[in-house]
Amino acid sequence: MAVNHTNALSGSLWQRIPLWQKIFAGLASGVLTGMLLGEEASMFKPLGDIFINAIMMVMVPLVFSSLVVGITAIRDPQKMGRIGIKTVSLYLLTTAFAVSIGLLLATVLRPGAGLELSFDTPVNPAVAPGLIELLVGLVPRNPIEAFASGKTLQIIVFAVGLGISLSLIGEKGQPVVRVFDSFAEGMYKLTGIIMAFAPFGVFGLIAHVSGQYGPEVLLPLVKLIGVTYLGCILHVVIVYAGLLRVLGKLSPLRYLQGSLDALVVGYSTASSTATLPVSLRCARKNLGVSEGVADFVLPVGATINMDGTALYQGVVVLFIAQLLGVDLSLMDYGLIVVTATLASIGTAAVPGSGLIMLSIIMAQVGLPLEAIAVVAGIDRILDMARTSVNIAGDLMVTVLVGKSEGELNDKIFNSPSKS
Ligand code: ASP
Repeated sequence: MAVNHTNALSGSLWQRIPLWQKIFAGLASGVLTGMLLGEEASMFKPLGDIFINAIMMVMVPLVFSSLVVGITAIRDPQKMGRIGIKTVSLYLLTTAFAVSIGLLLATVLRPGAGLELSFDTPVNPAVAPGLIELLVGLVPRNPIEAFASGKTLQIIVFAVGLGISLSLIGEKGQPVVRVFDSFAEGMYKLTGIIMAFAPFGVFGLIAHVSGQYGPEVLLPLVKLIGVTYLGCILHVVIVYAGLLRVLGKLSPLRYLQGSLDALVVGYSTASSTATLPVSLRCARKNLGVSEGVADFVLPVGATINMDGTALYQGVVVLFIAQLLGVDLSLMDYGLIVVTATLASIGTAAVPGSGLIMLSIIMAQVGLPLEAIAVVAGIDRILDMARTSVNIAGDLMVTVLVGKSEGELNDKIFNSPSKS
């Protein structure tokens, strides 16, 4: 009897702690465990792998079904077009700001000055896809293949096409819409169940990363890490908070509070795609954005909007130029802003792809690609921060678009109790 009583109490205590606090506890204890155990902390990695696999498992079915339902819910084609234009413009604008912040900080703080690091591993340069190639690649020849390989942009194109067609056939489309609706709800619920496991998954992932990077790996590049992290924080605090206040008349604090789950999961998985189910959940449940807007704006953002990546690229390109004693002209700076903004569209939302895309920008300003090897060793640490910012940007734009379209529930947004 007494045992049952204790169980009930501990059960409810666990349930009463908000999810974000539990995830944070997982993050903090993961960092500590990694520091204490070093490489041996990798024994906890399977916990993290199971968690990533589980959220990836819901990603494609959730994005596809909720997008089809979202599109059929927005009946007005003009509204759809407006949402699309606002979304893409805000995404590009914030990314250009992000590179500029990265460039400004790296110019002022000079993280690469006075360092003598050698590099000898050659890097295979990424090839920037041409515009035509990009457009052709948007349309899947075989949707099943797009699902199987998780090609988010192709999935979006197919879902939007199917959604519009189902709307056009009116009543006849309704049975399919209802099936997708119920399927999406099921996937959404499954995300919630998986998220209950997030504190342990985050713990496993972070313990592994923190155990891998000892002081000898981190110390030589600590200034670069510091400048990148500072840039990420400033971008969120200045650009996102500013836009939310000025354009949306919304509280940046509530936005951050509601986004925390996704930001921490993004930080530990270093993948915007893997975090997408969590971001969708945050947007709807914590931030009060309607399904129609969240289900469209977020998947597009996870694929094309990479503010953190662009900021990081600005910092790293200048870091390498400083390391090599190369002076970049004003023209080069302009080139970096344009190239990093465009390259971030083509960056896959998976761990490490920002590093590969870096070679495009380096090539633009004539820096030797081998120098990328200097940062490759610590890229994961930078990737974690930039992925969180990528996700923060997606959620900020989703909130703003939702607000401007009257698709934001202010009561949910302003509520202090989040998940
Ligand atoms: N990992 C990042 C993301 O998923 C992309 C990058 O490597 O910059 O958003």
